[in-house]
This record gives sequence, C-alpha cells and structure tokens, in this order.
Amino acid sequence: MIVILKSGASEEVVQHVAERITQLGLTPHISRGEFRTIIGAIGEEGVALPEQLEQIAGVEKVMPIMRPYKLASREFHPDDTALEIRGVKIGGDYCAVIAGPCSVENRELLLNVARQVKAAGASILRGGAFKPRTSPYSFQGLGKEGLEYLAQARAELDMPVITEVMDPRDVELMTDYTDIYQIGARNMQNYNLLLEVGQTNKPVFLKRGMAAPINELLMSAEYVMSRGNHQVILCERGIRTFETQTRFTLDISAVPVIRANSHLPIFVDPSHAAGKRELVADLALAGMAAGAHGVMVEVHTDPEQALSDGPQSMLPSGFRRLMERLRQVAEVLGRRLN
Ligand code: PEP
Ligand code: MN
Repeated sequence: MIVILKSGASEEVVQHVAERITQLGLTPHISRGEFRTIIGAIGEEGVALPEQLEQIAGVEKVMPIMRPYKLASREFHPDDTALEIRGVKIGGDYCAVIAGPCSVENRELLLNVARQVKAAGASILRGGAFKPRTSPYSFQGLGKEGLEYLAQARAELDMPVITEVMDPRDVELMTDYTDIYQIGARNMQNYNLLLEVGQTNKPVFLKRGMAAPINELLMSAEYVMSRGNHQVILCERGIRTFETQTRFTLDISAVPVIRANSHLPIFVDPSHAAGKRELVADLALAGMAAGAHGVMVEVHTDPEQALSDGPQSMLPSGFRRLMERLRQVAEVLGRRLN
C-alpha cells in the first residue's frame, strides 16, 4: 500500500510511520518529495492495516494496492472458473438459463412451469420455498413442502434445481433437495449464512445486494470461498437508483467489470431488475451480449394469480421466444448455451 503524508510532515512522523509499517511485517520505502513524503509498504497487506495507519497524525491518506478479495480475484485464478452441475456446464464459454416461478406455490404449478421451461431449453429450474418478502404478511413460501415439489420436478425432468436459503439453520435440511444454494439480494451480507454455505460442497448462487457496490459482492463471495467452497456463481439483479420506471436498474456494466476482476461466473436476473414482464427479454439479451454466463428468469403460467412477482413473470410463450433469441446471441458471440 502507499502512505501519503501531510505536506510538511516532520521527520519524526516519517520515522514513526516507517516503524509501524515494519512492526506490521511490511517493508517501508520512503520517497521524499519537495513538499510531501510518500511511503510505500511492500508485503502482504492485511485488511486492517490501512485503517490503522490512516489514524496516525501526519498521515493524509493510505491507498491499498491489492484488492481486498483474493480467492475471488482473477489474479488468484487467471482462468474462468468452470462448474458442472448435474451435467450443466457453467463458466468460460458455457452459458445456462435458469427459469421457473418466483415461488413454489403448489405442486401442479411447479411441474407445469418446469415442463414448459425445460421444453423451451432452460437447463436449471428455479423456485422459492423460503421467500424473503418485504412484508411479513405476504406469502412466505411453502417451506419443506416446496422443497419436496422441487425434488420431484428434478427427478421427473432430470434437471438441476436452485432455491433460496435464508437461514443458516436450513442449509443442512436443504442439501437433499437443491443442487444450488441461492443467496438472495437481501442476504448478500448475511455473513453467518455465507460461512454456512461455504462449508458445503454445493454451488452457491450469490445475488448482488440492491445497494451493494461490486467490491462488496466480491467480498461476500470471498466469505463463501474462505470456508473452502469455491463454487460460487455471482448474479447482478438490479440496484437501486433514482429511476422509477423500473423496479431496480439492471447494472449491465457489472458484467464486464466482474469478468475483468474475478474468475467467477456472472449471471444477470432481468426479472427482479425490471419488475415488468415486457422488459425482461431485452434485458436478458443485453446481459448475455455483455458477457454474462447466463440468465435467471421468472416464468409463470398464470401471472395474474401468482403469489409473488406476477408482474415480472413471463408467460411460457414469451420465454420460448426469448430462448430462441438467446440461442442466436450465444451463437454470434461464440458462446455455448447448455
Ligand atoms: C428471487 O430470486 O426470487 C429473489 C427474491 O431475488 P432477489 O433476492 O434478487 O430479490
Ligand atoms: Mn421473485
């Protein structure tokens, strides 16, 4: 890291900072300019060190050079991470489409939607059994019953399933029912939950918090990976901005930024971002064109009757058309859509 001293800082300050850097196990390199002295600290930077040095009187600013995340960074793992989930390949040139209802509402709905999205070409089935709702009075999901329907759909259609885990105490229960643990936007910084899924050997689909900078998403991935589970898939699902025409703003730039800084696969979820069914297809295509490794889309056979997220859920017919266009985009870009 680089420590910039205040202009006119005394020799005493310079020596004190250099000593602190040495005590912290780094090597100080002092560079004296006409007005300012800058001290480079060479060695392994811990996360607390910049904050400690910044508190010394006479220090103007401390600039870390290394990224705060390591395991999730491209430097650590220059090639893209490649995952295989029940035969579905994700990462590198491989892309996948996750589709299904927002919530598992009942057995018939789930199986009906599952059959239709599978026939259209989706490779992974989604459906929430534990729902993170803004209101405690809204439908909270079927819980274990919902997990059982997901497992039935998986068996019938031979496709992997993904469902959200909200509570560290449910991680073990869910292991027989899901192939991927989804961490929702609202739980992106639920560190105990991240550590718990970090101890499993199943992929973790980590959604970006609606007010979280990209670095914080990557730090959350680091939490999961720090426990030994390196199978993390990131997801951009829209962030809060001043715009009111959409539920959230899909941050397309997150896709190339994440691909530049991390080896982990990155998906986009245009359904939760847009909040409106008519915008979902165009945003999904934009995400793929920007380099996403896949999209997550909500589909419902009767959105008007949906217990959650009906307005943003596509009808199966719209989803079929989207799949055709996604195939075309993938082909043009030389990507392989499962
Ligand atoms: C969901 O996928 O149904 C969901 C609740 O998404 P998010 O956590 O992105 O809001
Ligand atoms: Mn939803």
